[in-house]
Amino acid sequence: MNPPSQVATGRPVPAAVYRGRLAPSPTGYLHLGHARTFWAAQERARLHGGVLILRNDDLDSTRYRMEFVDAMIEDLRWFGFAWREGPDCGGPFAPYNQSGRMDVYRAALDRLSAGNFIYPCTCSRKDIQNAVTAPHAADDELVYPGTCREKPGWRMADGGLNSDFAVRNSKFSWRFRVPDGGAISFTDGNLGGQNFVAGRDFGDFVVWRHDDVPAYQLSCAVDDAAMGITEVVRGADLLVSTARQILLYRALGLTPPDFFHCALMLDEAGLRLAKRHDVLSLRTLRGQGLLPESLRRDWNPSDKAG
Ligand code: GLU
Ligand code: ZN
Repeated sequence: MNPPSQVATGRPVPAAVYRGRLAPSPTGYLHLGHARTFWAAQERARLHGGVLILRNDDLDSTRYRMEFVDAMIEDLRWFGFAWREGPDCGGPFAPYNQSGRMDVYRAALDRLSAGNFIYPCTCSRKDIQNAVTAPHAADDELVYPGTCREKPGWRMADGGLNSDFAVRNSKFSWRFRVPDGGAISFTDGNLGGQNFVAGRDFGDFVVWRHDDVPAYQLSCAVDDAAMGITEVVRGADLLVSTARQILLYRALGLTPPDFFHCALMLDEAGLRLAKRHDVLSLRTLRGQGLLPESLRRDWNPSDKAG
């Protein structure tokens, strides 16, 4: 006898499997603010009957410490997170440690270079501060004034990097040239319509750092695409980064995922939680005998305000 067909069950077949991710950076102990955003990510994946993955964003070797990777995994488990793919359990898109994925980022950089989307920038942070006159939000990077945009001599006729330039400038970063005045619009799954203007809300941004490390914008966009992420759940502090990353998706010919930005958790003074709030690290809370269920009693993934 033939087995009953899928169709006969009448079960709707999802168009695509939802894939969400937790992407912590092991630069300190995780605190309650991370847990809250991650909890929203896990709830979204569960709601969609999807898969949650854990990615270890460990590229920043100047700030990252191995002990934090182990602590991160232990703290996430304690809090009640469960992932299907990750650095500890592997999966079809391994490796899940960004430090093991340099070839993927290099290939993306080459594609940006071939498409003439990037240029080398020799400015120091001081140079940029001195050149910028417009006011800017304190917590976002300065709008780069474009100093190195039209610098001649770095490109050979065939489009490659001129080795003389590389020798003369031992340290330079690669910047993405944003389309000035270009609109970037997307509908956020939590916050609704979002509109940004390139060159006004943010300027040319670094995709490869002068210390030869891929910048967050590039590694994140490239990995979310490579790992088949269908929805990125992250803090609302990263809305402008999402706009930058959408430009990278376009330049690399990739389809962006959906986005769901969560309200940030604020402390009693109305400031956002940062890693310096050590009293709220998951480690400390656990040491005090607090239970994860009580810590997340009032959490709602769709909260619009802190
Ligand atoms: N590793 C990044 C962070 O912790 C990921 C941010 C994101 O969700 O894109 O800030
Ligand atoms: Zn520059």
